[in-house]
Parts: sequence; structure tokens; C-alpha cells
Amino acid sequence: MCKKTIIAQREGVAITQCVNCKTVNIWKTGLLMRFTFDQFDQFAAITNRIEFDNYVEYAPDGTEIVILSTPCNDICLMFTRVELDNFASAIEEAIYMQNIYKLVHN
Ligand SMILES: [Zn+2]
Repeated sequence: MCKKTIIAQREGVAITQCVNCKTVNIWKTGLLMRFTFDQFDQFAAITNRIEFDNYVEYAPDGTEIVILSTPCNDICLMFTRVELDNFASAIEEAIYMQNIYKLVHN
């Protein structure tokens, strides 16, 4: 059975994991993304490396945004500067909590 543990929470984003199925879920407004632990590690590595100013693009309405690829090729995530900061810090916290849980469980 699924045992979802919240490993990070920020405005508009929550990250949970299930140690039984070894999946991480990212719950974002209107979106639920599922990752295997490996996929999540890769995604986290990319997210925490992104510098907003180096990857800035423009949304159709002219807003400055950064677009992130996901393991689902045709679905990308889009962030304003504030949203990206928020998201990256949630991911960082999730990785930190994952490591703590690993220590506790092993
Ligand atoms: Zn599960």
C-alpha cells in the first residue's frame, strides 16, 4: 500500500514520496508529476543548477520565464523568477529529507 510522506512543502508545491513503490510525487497547482527515485535525482540535479538569468525566455504574454524539461518529453514546466526560487528550494528540501529518511530506515 502507498504510504505517502511529505518531504517538502512550499507555496503552491508539495513533494511526497512513497518508500514502498520508490516514487516521488510533485504536486503543483493543477499538476501531479510522478518520478522514480532515479528520475527525481536527475530532475533535482538539473533544477538546482539552473540560473534564471542564463535560461530566461519569454512567455506569450511577455513575462520572463524559465522552462524546465521533465522526464515526460512533451511536458515542460514554466517558472517566473520567484516561482523558480520557490520550486528549487522545495526540491532541495525534499532531497535533504530523503537523505534523512534513508539514514533512519537503513
Ligand atoms: Zn506506494
